[in-house]
Amino acid sequence: MSSISFLEQVDRMFEKAAAYTSHPEGLLKQIRICNSMYKMEFPLKRDDGSIEVIEAWRSEHSHHKLPTKGGIRFAENVNEDEVAALATLMTYKCAIVNVPFGGAKGGIKINRKNYSEAEIERITRRYTYELVSKNFIGPGIDVPAPDYGTGPKEMAWIVDTYRSLTGDPLTAAACVTGKPVTLGGVRGRTEATGLGTYYGIREACSFLDDMTKLGLKTGLADKRVVVQGLGNVGYHAAKFMQEGGATIVGLAEYEGAIHNDAGLDVETVMAHRKATGSILNFPGATNLLKSSDALELPCEILIPAALESVITSENAGRIQAKIVGEAANGPVTADADAILLSKGVMILPDVYLNAGGVTVSYFEWLKNLSHVRFGRMSKRFEQASNERIVRAMAGAVGINLQDAELARVTAGADEIDLVKSGLEETMAGAYAEIREVAKRLDTDLRTAAFINAIDKVAASYTELGIFP
Ligand code: NAD
Repeated sequence: MSSISFLEQVDRMFEKAAAYTSHPEGLLKQIRICNSMYKMEFPLKRDDGSIEVIEAWRSEHSHHKLPTKGGIRFAENVNEDEVAALATLMTYKCAIVNVPFGGAKGGIKINRKNYSEAEIERITRRYTYELVSKNFIGPGIDVPAPDYGTGPKEMAWIVDTYRSLTGDPLTAAACVTGKPVTLGGVRGRTEATGLGTYYGIREACSFLDDMTKLGLKTGLADKRVVVQGLGNVGYHAAKFMQEGGATIVGLAEYEGAIHNDAGLDVETVMAHRKATGSILNFPGATNLLKSSDALELPCEILIPAALESVITSENAGRIQAKIVGEAANGPVTADADAILLSKGVMILPDVYLNAGGVTVSYFEWLKNLSHVRFGRMSKRFEQASNERIVRAMAGAVGINLQDAELARVTAGADEIDLVKSGLEETMAGAYAEIREVAKRLDTDLRTAAFINAIDKVAASYTELGIFP
């Protein structure tokens, strides 16, 4: 483990990037520091009648844009430093993908496996109550989302609690994102972070000069991939990488890892895990009892998608991947970052690569405020216009189109199509911006991403008239 904290790691990365800019010191400090941190302790009545005190946090790192935005993590080791570090990353992430929010993050210090469903619901609702009572949640204030250990169900409890406490029927749904679709969620949010990870890696692998420098071809077809963590982000990232043509050769979970250089089918592994309770002993694969050994397997792309600080100065030298795609937040420590870069590894930084979640959360928030499903106003119109064009062209060249074929080529976009294309555009556009800075300043992609973020947040403060 690194001796410096997660927040110090993030701040070191910030300082490295800030040195490339000419912003005044006071402005840089204002961008770096955490604006507010709410630490709370509240009682939980357990199912057996005993009382337990639960520790939790919500950090709003930057109010340069409102609302602030960031997930809520349920994890045993969560602490104030980690929540502040994750909130900080959220500020930079939103700026990098041009999502108009400040950064925030929440954490509840529990191992959810030790609590019943009813207890988790009581914890989530009480946490929401605390946020409401201190004005730390609201569609224009601070909008949470899922993160490690949470999902649509917790978001549903949050919106329900918020609505009943505030009595705000018009905008309440926009107080949290990652909700089930039936409660105002947007189609595509569940898989957004994994899909964004795939779009980002695919984009990075499309540049001939960058791939040649790594001794690789463009595209995903010649890429062996190892993924750590098969939760929301890791499972979807692995699934989309496989569908995109890469070969998944290693998968790691907390119970161990499996390896097969000929390829692992992600869905079959998931089904095996569901049936046996473990990914181990998957037919045709070798078991790695020490799960973290998977990080050192021979592969072209390594995707850590579990938790922070898993690649440290201790194991960085043994990483064989040419590309590290940071789907998790903070998986590479600052020391390990320097080691990997000196080995010529391309690191696709978390602040860019896992921004798919917040991007689609932004779409969900827009949907909630506008009270209309994406595509509802335009789908039929698009379809009718496409049909007129296709029929005219087919008539001009004497082709008689079948109805099914016509319907396929003229279909208008549904919500899921628009969300995916908005996400793809966002990831491609942000990568182009980062790559341009990296090339121009001859620096790595993380530093370039941080420079971009610093410049954009600095511009907001300047527009607000706070700094010259
Ligand atoms: P999750 O709870 O759905 O899944 C995490 C998985 O990692 C679990 O299956 C867990 O068993 C596994 N895991 C934990 N420790 C491990 C270890 N040492 N080795 C192997 N596997 C391990 O969480 P998630 O939402 O997928 O989040 C994963 C990471 O992605 C976190 O760093 C989170 O901050 C980040 N992230 C999540 C989102 C999102 O939309 N959910 C968005 C951006 C970033």
